[in-house]
Amino acid sequence: MVNAPVLEAKQVTMAFNAGTPREVVAFRDISFTLRQGEILAIVGPSGCGKSTLFNVIAGLLRPTSGSVSVDGTLVDGARGHIGYMLQKDLLLPWRSVLDNVTLGLEVMGTPSAEARDRAMALIRRYGLAGFESARPRALSGGMRQRVAFMRTLALDPKAILLDEPFSALDFQTRLILQGDVKRIIREQRKAAILVTHDIGEGIAMSDRVLVLSQRPGTVKAIHDIDLGDATDPGALRRSSAFNEYFDTIWRQLDGHAQAAA
Ligand code: ADP
Repeated sequence: MVNAPVLEAKQVTMAFNAGTPREVVAFRDISFTLRQGEILAIVGPSGCGKSTLFNVIAGLLRPTSGSVSVDGTLVDGARGHIGYMLQKDLLLPWRSVLDNVTLGLEVMGTPSAEARDRAMALIRRYGLAGFESARPRALSGGMRQRVAFMRTLALDPKAILLDEPFSALDFQTRLILQGDVKRIIREQRKAAILVTHDIGEGIAMSDRVLVLSQRPGTVKAIHDIDLGDATDPGALRRSSAFNEYFDTIWRQLDGHAQAAA
């Protein structure tokens, strides 16, 4: 049975200062559907509206027209069905790993024993066992991002937005974390959207890559990604399928870069 869509964007358009001489249309008529366990990457030239789209999907900005819904309900920043993972981990330095992972749950009023159990289960399952009492400063950048991801997962969001979450990490750590986050999102049956400048990251992590045109961003293409069973990050990136996707998407983006030059 095919899963019902978790996240649906229907003909979403965002114009700043709409109807005035200063109108800027960031993007236009963007539609896509995301099901449980799927990751969609959004790539596009700088200024095509990726961050704005991210804010609209998160419910932080209301679109000029069109709609975004999660589980059939229109998104609204206050409702919290959507989790985030950003470039900055935003961990609180004075709290332990465990207390950082339980932070969102505490804010939501979850009883502390339950919050602790939920956080510890994630910490153990996803490679942070033994570090629960450590402070963030004692951790590597990759581990800190892992804690930030656990904090997001602990809230059990339906959908997760990933905004360049690995761009501050060294190359090797980035590849490992990309693979881990992809696996965990599938395992936890979450739907995720990855906004990235890195075409390779988009291909390696996602089920589909949506290519946006220059501003006003429109959907130039949506590529279904099938890389077979390869899980090793190096082997994956050397495969001919990966390189074909890369070339196609690169050409779609490069066309814009040349036009802009
Ligand atoms: P990207 O993340 O792809 O680089 P952005 O979403 O940041 O692009 O911006 C898309 C366009 O919308 C840009 O031209 C930007 O100048 C414009 N823009 C973004 N925010 C605002 C705003 N608050 N008011 C007016 N224009 C804005």
